[in-house]
Amino acid sequence: MKKTLTVLVSIVAVIIVGCAQRERHPEKITVVVSIVPLAEFAEEIGGDKVRVSVMVSPGASPHTYEPTSGQLIEVSKAKLYIKVGAPIEFELAWLDRILSTNRGLSIINASAGIHLQQHEHTSQDPHVWLSPKNAKTMVENIYKGLVVIDSVNEQYYADNKKRYLAQIDRLDREIEKILEKKINRKFMVFHPSWGYFARDYKIEQIPVEAEGKEPTARDIQHLIEQAKKSHITVVFASPQFNMESAEVIAREIQGSVVIIDPLAKDYITNMKKVAQALSEAME
Ligand SMILES: [Zn+2]
Repeated sequence: MKKTLTVLVSIVAVIIVGCAQRERHPEKITVVVSIVPLAEFAEEIGGDKVRVSVMVSPGASPHTYEPTSGQLIEVSKAKLYIKVGAPIEFELAWLDRILSTNRGLSIINASAGIHLQQHEHTSQDPHVWLSPKNAKTMVENIYKGLVVIDSVNEQYYADNKKRYLAQIDRLDREIEKILEKKINRKFMVFHPSWGYFARDYKIEQIPVEAEGKEPTARDIQHLIEQAKKSHITVVFASPQFNMESAEVIAREIQGSVVIIDPLAKDYITNMKKVAQALSEAME
């Protein structure tokens, strides 16, 4: 009898503790995003109210990535999807399929209100997140979307947003300062991710890739001449792409290849690192 009672009491205790825990830790909002920098923004604003997962795995390119079946299952159970919104191949190819697996999914277009600029003559440049000014708009959009689905925590999201926007403002001023005194404002980069960044800080990006394709031998010859003429000694590359043609050019100009990552996790630190690398490469 006594034993039964003890068991009963512990069961009741477990139930009570269970309920209390659920009150204190309500279920997190499951958020899926296309690329790593968006995860960073969502986590900064959503804090402990969200659980974020990323579609395009670190090291992969959002221009070519295909999701795994496990990722498609995960997104079918998610509450919120944050898309880049600028025309990037991964979303153009997969977003409809993703949405068809989950009719209840809310969507945030992180690029709403951002003016898209032309990219390599033909299409619009999808690399919006690499401008801190654009990033502020993206953070605002994510904030608004979170408030729509979870208005109870509006103040919490607003506080997080205010703090993070201040950090991005500081970053913007720091990059401005790092690059403002440079005389030679041209840089050569394999994949042209830095169009919005270049616009913001009045520098000029010279892409090695031509219309998303590896350059021909003739293109490379032309780039070598251009680099010599513009006193360029660094060819930038990123972890998502083959570095071979960047290395060929660097060798010919007796320069070096330096890696900058357009998709790194710690946005603020990474952007500062990129600005410093560019600054060192410029005169
Ligand atoms: Zn890209």
